[in-house]
Amino acid sequence: MKTQKEQADKLLLTAEIWIAVLGIMFLLGAVAVAAFVELPDFARILIIAGGAVIFLIACFFALKIEQVAGYYECKHCHKKHVPTYKQVILAMHMGRTRYLKCPNCGKKSWQKKVLSDKES
Ligand SMILES: [Zn+2]
Repeated sequence: MKTQKEQADKLLLTAEIWIAVLGIMFLLGAVAVAAFVELPDFARILIIAGGAVIFLIACFFALKIEQVAGYYECKHCHKKHVPTYKQVILAMHMGRTRYLKCPNCGKKSWQKKVLSDKES
């Protein structure tokens, strides 16, 4: 039986992918327009800067979702926790698995994103 939070988190994580894809498309679109459309230089710079700003905003939201949706599970003590936003930004990651310090045992490990906070 899934809790409401688990279902909401799952939706959020799906939304995160779309936010990231749209952010990348905006940036690539802006670069393509600036590269191929006949425009004065200042307009090219504005378009690329605008695309970059939208991309950064998308990254901000995607990482915020990454932080609050679900939990990270420590490989050593299997305790689940929600990291701070700063930890999520600074941590190395492969997909959704992040190299984080566990607040329970203090050890660093590659921690998987899990939706449930119950013991598995
Ligand atoms: Zn731990």
